Amino acid sequence: MAKVKLEFDDSTFTLFRARHTLLQSARPRYYHGRDIAKVLRKKQKGRCPLCGESFGRRPVQVDHKRTVKSFASDLSLSLDEAVRRCTARSNFRLVHAKCNQARNRRKRASQ
Ligand SMILES: [Zn+2]
Repeated sequence: MAKVKLEFDDSTFTLFRARHTLLQSARPRYYHGRDIAKVLRKKQKGRCPLCGESFGRRPVQVDHKRTVKSFASDLSLSLDEAVRRCTARSNFRLVHAKCNQARNRRKRASQ
C-alpha cells in the first residue's frame, strides 16, 4: 500500500484537494481477496480497451474509467457516494501502461 502524504496549509487545502487525496488513497487492490488486475484481465479477455491488442507480457495499469479528478470536483456527490462510485469494480479497467501514458499526454496537451 502506497503511503499518502497529507500536508495541508490554509493556502493549498481546498475541498477539491481533500477529496482528491481521499479518493486516490481509497483505490482498492483486491476484490473479495482476488487481485483486481487479474480479475480485470480475465473479464476483458486479455485485451487492452485503448488499443484493442492483447496484453501479452507488456506492463499494465489499472485505470479509472471515470477519473479521480472528475469525482473529486463533482460536488453534487457526497464524499461517501464519490468514494463508492470511484472504487466500484465497474469503474476500473486494465490497460497497457504505455497506452495509458500516451492517452494522458494527449489529454494534458489538449487542456
Ligand atoms: Zn493498449
